[in-house]
Amino acid sequence: MGVTKTYSATDAQLLVELGVVDLGENRDQEARGKAEAVPAARWHFVGQLQRNKTNSVAAYASVVQSVDRPELVAALERSAVRHRRELEVLIQVNLDSEPGLGVLGPRGGVVPAQVLSLARYMESCSWLRLRGLMGVAPRQDSANYAFSQLRALSKELCSQYPDARWISAGMSSDLEEAVSQGATHLRIGGALLGKRV
Ligand SMILES: *Cc1c(COP(=O)(O)O)cnc(C)c1O
Repeated sequence: MGVTKTYSATDAQLLVELGVVDLGENRDQEARGKAEAVPAARWHFVGQLQRNKTNSVAAYASVVQSVDRPELVAALERSAVRHRRELEVLIQVNLDSEPGLGVLGPRGGVVPAQVLSLARYMESCSWLRLRGLMGVAPRQDSANYAFSQLRALSKELCSQYPDARWISAGMSSDLEEAVSQGATHLRIGGALLGKRV
């Protein structure tokens, strides 16, 4: 999928015309404008999300990839009900770098040990469809290790939730590692649209 943050709505429209209809954004305000301008895209929200933004996001997003805490799940469910739009969601996992390389990254996401309990929490939400996991590798040189963690977690999740088999991993700098670790979705900005200015 394309990630169009910082690129224009015209670029987003061009991608759709070329067949790249799944597009991602990481900030509500920017996403809302582009979603209005390019309604033919299927919009994915991939950024950190505040609870008070879920009403806005649920109006245009088809997928929210960055779900990482119960309060956010509850807020998204209420917003989905309000808009009468089902939302597909991914649990964002906070991927550690290689053992010994240090602390968890600052990018959001639930720790691996809490993935299944968050999935269980979602069972009570009739407007959210759990589709799988999303992760951002903390460092490019350990992306392969990080994505192998994500793949192992996905296997565990799928054994209980067979519809939750998406693995959203990899960006421009680590897409090959993501493919080699079984990603079903790559989130590509720069490598698709050129260097941001
Ligand atoms: C910006 C962003 C991407 C795309 O990054 P590129 O380096 O431009 O490919 C992917 N995922 C998330 C969560 C992002 O914020």
